[in-house]
Amino acid sequence: MNSCARTEREAHDAAALALQYWGEDGHWTRLPGENFNATNGVSVLKLTPVADDLVQLEQELLGRWSAAGLPVVQAVPALDGSDSVACQWDGQSMTARLYPRLPGSMWRTSPTTDALLCSIGATLAQMHQVDLGAQAAQRTHAWDLATACQHRPSIGLMPSSSTRRGVDAAMQAMAAIDLDGCPRGVLHGDFNDENVLVDGDAVVGIVDFGDVLAGAFVQDLAITMAYAVQQDGVDVQRAGVLVQAYEATRALNMQEKKALPVLVAARLAMSLCIAASRQQKDPSHPTWFEHVESTSQALEKLMSFAPRDLGMLWCSGQSRTSPSATSADSLLDRRACLGRSLSLGYDQPLHITQGRGAYLIDADDRVYLDLVNNVCHVGHSHPRVVEAMARQAYTLNTNTRYLHETVLEYAERLTSTLPKGLDTCFFVNSGSEANELALRIARVVTGHQDVLVIDGAYHGNTGNCVAMSPYKFNGLGGAGCPEWVHVAPMPDVYRGDWSGEDAGHRYASEAGAVIAHAVESGRSIAAFFAESMLSCGGQIPLPSGYLQETVAHVRAAGGLYVADEVQVGFGRVGTSMWGFEKEPVLPDMVVLGKPMGNGHPIGAVVTTRAIANAFANGMEYFSTFGGNPVSAAVGLAVLDVIDSEGLMERAQVLGQRLMEGLHALREDCDLIGDVRGQGLFVGIELVRDRNTKQPAAAEAHQVVNAAKHAGILLSTDGPQHNVIKIKPPLALDAMDVDRALRTLRDVLVSR
Ligand code: PMP
Repeated sequence: MNSCARTEREAHDAAALALQYWGEDGHWTRLPGENFNATNGVSVLKLTPVADDLVQLEQELLGRWSAAGLPVVQAVPALDGSDSVACQWDGQSMTARLYPRLPGSMWRTSPTTDALLCSIGATLAQMHQVDLGAQAAQRTHAWDLATACQHRPSIGLMPSSSTRRGVDAAMQAMAAIDLDGCPRGVLHGDFNDENVLVDGDAVVGIVDFGDVLAGAFVQDLAITMAYAVQQDGVDVQRAGVLVQAYEATRALNMQEKKALPVLVAARLAMSLCIAASRQQKDPSHPTWFEHVESTSQALEKLMSFAPRDLGMLWCSGQSRTSPSATSADSLLDRRACLGRSLSLGYDQPLHITQGRGAYLIDADDRVYLDLVNNVCHVGHSHPRVVEAMARQAYTLNTNTRYLHETVLEYAERLTSTLPKGLDTCFFVNSGSEANELALRIARVVTGHQDVLVIDGAYHGNTGNCVAMSPYKFNGLGGAGCPEWVHVAPMPDVYRGDWSGEDAGHRYASEAGAVIAHAVESGRSIAAFFAESMLSCGGQIPLPSGYLQETVAHVRAAGGLYVADEVQVGFGRVGTSMWGFEKEPVLPDMVVLGKPMGNGHPIGAVVTTRAIANAFANGMEYFSTFGGNPVSAAVGLAVLDVIDSEGLMERAQVLGQRLMEGLHALREDCDLIGDVRGQGLFVGIELVRDRNTKQPAAAEAHQVVNAAKHAGILLSTDGPQHNVIKIKPPLALDAMDVDRALRTLRDVLVSR
C-alpha cells in the first residue's frame, strides 16, 4: 500500500474507532511519532500494543502528577465507562485511549529559547519531586536507559566507522557507570521533544506515558538533554541552562553529576543502536530513521568533550576536585621526585583515577577498556576483595611470627588448587621476591648454583632476578649474561628455527644441549625457571612436549623445575587454573604474584614438603609483610571470586571468542603475521611482510596509541616490541570482547 492510501485508511479507521467507543465525531489526522496517535483538534486517539498495556498504572500516576499541578491529562472514559478499549488495528491487538488534546505544540517544532530550556528543566524537576512511592512502575523496556548496554550487539550493524566509534565509546562509558548512589523514583521515561508540549517559552503539556518506569531520576534528565542538544541553535554548552533550571528545584548529587554526561551520550548511542537493528528488519519504515542523522551528529559533538568537562559545563556548583594534569606536566612532576628510570606508557601518558571491573577511568572521566593489566585479575577494585582487605586491616595486621588462622586457611585453599604434592607455601610480597626465594631454595636444596632460563624471559627486578632475565641483561643498561645463567633458545614456532609437530622436541633438545654444555664446562644446574607461556618473550605458548622433555634434561642434571606463573596463573588460560597443567609434568616449585592479590602486593612460592624441609637448614626465613593477615584475607577473597564468578570458564569462552575474531581480522589485515595464545592471554604479532616476517614495531606502537585514543588499553611486548599483548582482567564480558575486536579492526585496517 502506498503511503497516501495508508494515511487515508488510517484516518478512516481512527474516525470509526472514536465514533464507536467514545461517540466522538470528526476528521482525524496522524500525529508524528512511533506509536499511532491521531487528533481531530479536540482529542487525541492513542493506540498502543496490548503488550505495553499500562492503563491502570498510567491513570494512577497521571492523577498524582495532575494533583501536583503538572500539565497532564487523564484518559476520557469510553461510552461503557472504561479508560481504554481493546481493538484490532492493522491486524494487531491494540489498546485504544482517548485524551483531551492539550494546548501548545511539540517542543521540536518551536524555537528553543533559554527561557524554554528553563521551563523544561523546571517541569521535569517538579515531576521528580512528586513522591510516588518506591515500588511504583517496577518494569523495564527496550528504551530503559539504565539497560542501554543491552543494545551494544547492534553496533556492528552500523555502516559508518566514525558512528561506530562514538557509539562504542559512549556505550563503554555506560557499562562502567555506577548509578547506585543516584536517587530513584518514577520516571516519565521519554521526556523528549515530541512528548513535551510548549507554548512560547513555557511547557504547557506532557504526553505519552508509555515508557514510565522506576529508575534513577538523572536518567530522565539525561533523555531530555539528549533532545535539547539536538534542537536548532542549541549548542552543547547552552543546553546546560536546562540542567541548571532543573537543579534550582531538585539539586543533583555528585554521582548524578558524574553520571549525567555519560547517560546523555548513552541515550543517543542507544537510539542509534535501535535504529541500526530496525534498519535490518524494515529499512523502509516511514518514521524509524528520521532522527538518525541528527542523533549521530549530536553524539559526535558530545563525544568531543571529556565527560568531566561536560559535567562542569552543565551542572551548577561543579568544580574540579582533582584537575587532570597534562601529560607534560605530570612527567615533570614525576621527574622532580621519582627515579628517572621509571617509564610511562603511551605517547600521551594516562592519569587514571578510578578502576571498575575491566575499566579504567581517567581524571577527565574518560573510560578505557583495560586489555592489558593482568594484575587486577578479578576486576579493578573488586568490592569483595576491597571489603575483605578493609575488614582485616580494621582488625589486625601482623606477621607470621604470630599464630593466625587466615594465613593457614589461605595456604590450604591455595594449595588445594594445585596438583597434589605442591602443598607447602612461602608467602612474599611480589613476583620478584618469589623468584628470588625460589632461587635461594633451589641452591640450598640441590647444592648447585646455576640456572637455565628461556631467551627473552623476565623474572623480576631484584639483582638475581635481573641476572636471570635475558629480557633485562641483554637490553639497554644490561650487563650481559652472567656465568651462572644459561639461556635456552625461545621455543617460538612462528619466528624460531622449528615449527610443526616435533617443534617441542626440537627446542627441548636445544635446551638439553645448553645444559650439557654447562655441565661439561663444570657448572651445576640448580633450577630451570620457565614461564608456562612466555609473556615478555612475546605472548608465546610453549609447543607441546617442550616442558616435559626440557624438565627431564634439567632433572637429569640434578636441577629443579620452577614454574613462573606470575603472569599466566589463576585461571587465565581458561582450561586449567595453572598454565603448567597443559603438560604432564609437575613443577618442584611454583612462583606466584601479580593476580594473586588483585593489585595488593602478595606473592608466593609453593613447593613440596620434602623441598621445604630440605630448605630448613637452620637459617630463618622471614618476610616482614609476607603472609600477613590482610594479604591472606585478600588472597582468599580473590580465590572466592574466581570460583563464584566462574572466571576460569569465562577466560576460556571469551578467549575463544577473541581468538576467532582475531583470526578473522588476520585474514583482512596483512600487518598481522601471527595470532596466538590461550584463554585470555593472547598475542598479535605485527610484521611488515608475512614472508620475511620483518617486525613492525613502529606500527605496533601506533596501533597501541590509536587504540588508546579510541578507549582501549593495549601494550606491546616481545624482543622486537612488535607483539600486541592482550591479558585483561577476567571481569570483561562478551560485549567488551566484540568492542575490542571492532576497534582493533578499525585501527589496523584503516591505518
Ligand atoms: N615473573 C614474571 C613472569 C613477570 O612477568 C614478573 C613481572 N612482570 C615478575 C616475575 C616479577 O614480578 P613483580 O614485578 O611482582 O616483582
